[in-house]
Amino acid sequence: MIAEHKTLNATLKTYFGYDQFRPQQKEIVETVLQKKDCLVIMPTGGGKSICFQLPALLMDGVTLVISPLIALMKDQVDGLKANGVEAEFFNSSQSERERDSIIDKVIHQQLRLLYVAPESLAALENVLETKYISCIAIDEAHCISAWGHDFRSSYQRLGFLKRKMPTVPVIALTATADKATRQDILTQLEIPRARCFITSFDRKNIQLEVRPANERLRQIRSFISRQNGAAGIVYCLSRKSTEKLAEKLSADGISAAAYHAGLSFAERSRIQEAFIFDKIQVVCATIAFGMGIDKSNVRWVIHYNMPKNIEGYYQEIGRAGRDGLPAKALLFHSFADVIQLRNFMEGASNEEFQRAKLDRMMQFSEATSCRRKILLSYFGELLHENCGNCDVCKNPPTFFDGTIYAQKILSVITRVKQQEPAGVIIDVLRGAFNARIREKQYQTLKSYGVGRDITWKDWQHYIVQLINQGYCEIAFHQNNVLLLTEFSGKVLFEGQKVFLTRPLTVQEKAVKLKKTIAERPIQNTLFERLRKLRYAIAQEENIPAYLVFNDATLTEIEQVRPICEADFMEISGVGRRKLEVYGDRFMNEIIAFLEEKRGKARKQDTHMKTYELYQQGLSVEQISANRALKPLTVFSHLARLYAEGKSVDLYRFVSREEVSRVREARLMLQNKVELKPYFEYLNEEIEYPKIRLALTILEKEG
Ligand code: ADP
Ligand code: ZN
Repeated sequence: MIAEHKTLNATLKTYFGYDQFRPQQKEIVETVLQKKDCLVIMPTGGGKSICFQLPALLMDGVTLVISPLIALMKDQVDGLKANGVEAEFFNSSQSERERDSIIDKVIHQQLRLLYVAPESLAALENVLETKYISCIAIDEAHCISAWGHDFRSSYQRLGFLKRKMPTVPVIALTATADKATRQDILTQLEIPRARCFITSFDRKNIQLEVRPANERLRQIRSFISRQNGAAGIVYCLSRKSTEKLAEKLSADGISAAAYHAGLSFAERSRIQEAFIFDKIQVVCATIAFGMGIDKSNVRWVIHYNMPKNIEGYYQEIGRAGRDGLPAKALLFHSFADVIQLRNFMEGASNEEFQRAKLDRMMQFSEATSCRRKILLSYFGELLHENCGNCDVCKNPPTFFDGTIYAQKILSVITRVKQQEPAGVIIDVLRGAFNARIREKQYQTLKSYGVGRDITWKDWQHYIVQLINQGYCEIAFHQNNVLLLTEFSGKVLFEGQKVFLTRPLTVQEKAVKLKKTIAERPIQNTLFERLRKLRYAIAQEENIPAYLVFNDATLTEIEQVRPICEADFMEISGVGRRKLEVYGDRFMNEIIAFLEEKRGKARKQDTHMKTYELYQQGLSVEQISANRALKPLTVFSHLARLYAEGKSVDLYRFVSREEVSRVREARLMLQNKVELKPYFEYLNEEIEYPKIRLALTILEKEG
């Protein structure tokens, strides 16, 4: 057994470059190697591929990988080839000849993995036999289930595989957790006794944040400007808004494109490819985008609009940070979106069900406690500690006794007879005198103008909280007017206290902004160089940059700076083939960088050499001859040494009388820094080097 473990770890390192398995990966690999069926439920980015790619290397025959999207297949096959694994894909985009040659390779055992779309399985009929096939992997297995959200009818006929090859293990993989889907997968694939592996859904590296949807465009611009060019996705609800947003961002010089189901297939492929190849930084997309994206270096995901449910939200943010490095998920929360989503749901056969899911989504966005806890509890997972990596954990809200504000709001709602939306309620509170107010004679109400001292935005903030706490509600079916609830009376008449959070003051917002600016990664020149090299190699090989090395590997190379093969091989993500093919070029880049840095360091230390000679008693002329420097340079070294506090007696080179004349000039010239004005002011009587020294002395003496 120990020997076996050794082989598994060695194979993982040799082919994939990783030193360790992630949780459950090893157990899953072992189960497949024992030819047992399994169902793997892991979040996006959890590392599902290794679970069937590694066993494929250790078994006779080819592992068949059923995958729903052609784009995804090509990417995975390119990734495998970059690691030196024989892999191909088989689908309708290929010519008959190509397809024949692949079938030939299967028969002659020249392939480890073969990716195939379910529609193309029929064409493989002749090789679907136990003697050729080592394992059947069903990726995105939830597509089988009508319960799931990406149902595909072609996935429903896959049960025949197990019937045809009963001894070949089946491994089904998905990121969708719910029980009905899970059961459906087992039934339809005819693997009722499959072992289930469910790993944690927690994606710790993704920072969660929710903000109110005020001035979204401005917020998005400033967010992107702090990302150092890192790639990201903005999800929007409508096709039109993806286009508008992409246009506006492009106008700002950000490389952005819109992506939605209304575009032609060719156009969508082009955008997807450009994004994968780092040629487009931002994709503004409807949910149609992403399933085929296996890009590991998506650093951020923004939800311009509120998602319909937590499943969708979690799957979409899961596209960020698959490489395990820090990533960000920012959601904009707006009631207008909620209203629109409710309208979409109206009349659907499962309207109740959909609305309940939307409610959970709202609870998440309005949370005043750790958001990750709420998310994970939705997936049935309990997080004991607060995560520390969400906006609520980072800036816990402080509550104050807001009973008076609550009473004012609720009394206005009462006096307008529960007939007005939030905007009019605020207008009444603030004593506005617009057409609506005049028409309804609201200026005569007793509560008219009782909230003039509070800004419009702050009233909005308080109303949202009252809604969240159940003291009033929005009537979505009656023009969104605000209604009282059974709890309103308690606040109005029974002295029940209401606790509210304070909106951030302008100063607090500024502090927060400063914090985020401080968090901005510093441009590291070696990393930039390595990134450029990676990009160049990716261009030459026509593969996405992250398939050369992902960001996590590149970061480690940057930190460790290996310059020999043994050290390079130690890096996580460097396997045998990548060492052979890319190692030298990366190591040369590191060496060049280190040498340049040394050169710079030498230059920086040059004044210290002058100091040594000065201490030995050499004159300025002697030093300049000795070091082949101009006398003015030597003087500037001496000035710098003096300023740094070294014991250098500048009065050896400039008299006290000259210094006092320069002092006078300095006063007249109002502290000018250039030397020429002094030279002229002093009638060209004091030479440049002496002026420089005198200024240094004056500077130091204050
Ligand atoms: P999934 O298919 O579950 O969404 P992937 O299989 O694409 O996830 O893996 C996500 C990322 O994690 C990839 O960049 C992959 O190379 C990396 N990865 C997988 N397993 C490991 C491991 N054991 N150590 C380090 N990185 C890993
Ligand atoms: Zn948290």
